[in-house]
Amino acid sequence: MADASSLEQRLADIDGQIADAARAASRDLSSITRIVITKFHPASLVRELYGLGVRDFGENRHQEAQPKAAELVDLDARWSFVGQLQSKKARQVRSYCHAVHSVDRDSLITALSSEDAVVPLDVFIQVNLTDDPARGGVVPSELEAFADRVANASGIELRGLMGVAPLEVDPRPAFAALRSLSERIGAQHPHARALSMGMSGDFAQAIAEGATHLRIGTAITGKRPDHG
Ligand SMILES: *Cc1c(COP(=O)(O)O)cnc(C)c1O
Repeated sequence: MADASSLEQRLADIDGQIADAARAASRDLSSITRIVITKFHPASLVRELYGLGVRDFGENRHQEAQPKAAELVDLDARWSFVGQLQSKKARQVRSYCHAVHSVDRDSLITALSSEDAVVPLDVFIQVNLTDDPARGGVVPSELEAFADRVANASGIELRGLMGVAPLEVDPRPAFAALRSLSERIGAQHPHARALSMGMSGDFAQAIAEGATHLRIGTAITGKRPDHG
């Protein structure tokens, strides 16, 4: 079990850094949602974070996320799915998540859409910000057509774009590129101006480039129990 006082300190420290970055970018803090990524951590840690006021949580593997969300149904937590998703699991993910940040292919649009959904699922299109086509995400040249297909699907709502900056290099140019793609998509789809970008190591740069949804794991949760 994580040490509750240090968890509280890390959360307060990161929230302070988020506020500083927002101020430096002359941005309203209320336009930024901090999602705590709790992958590899037990439900008990989610419960502790909830006790500290966190409401937005994210996971990247369905087989881990589903039982965790089920164990925590008594909480008023919002779950976002941020990882690679198999189409055949999409319907189940929809049942416990309010948002999926990693939609990057047509089979997922089909699998996530729903004719009879009471509440639409928020969808972010993952964009590949690297030169490596093997990495997840829609390539920028195909983004506009893909966004139109997401926007036309039933029961899902296009909210914006998601990206992971390449490692080992300055993340800022990648975030700037995602921002300019977002401006193009937003001109066509006014409700799709959200930008999911920024992780433990680069959220300040992401905020400077307009991030609205931060996905922060280890800087808040600490090291993952199984992974050193
Ligand atoms: C794990 C993960 C994060 C959080 O990463 P940290 O470096 O621990 O903050 C963010 N986004 C995605 C897609 C992830 O898989």
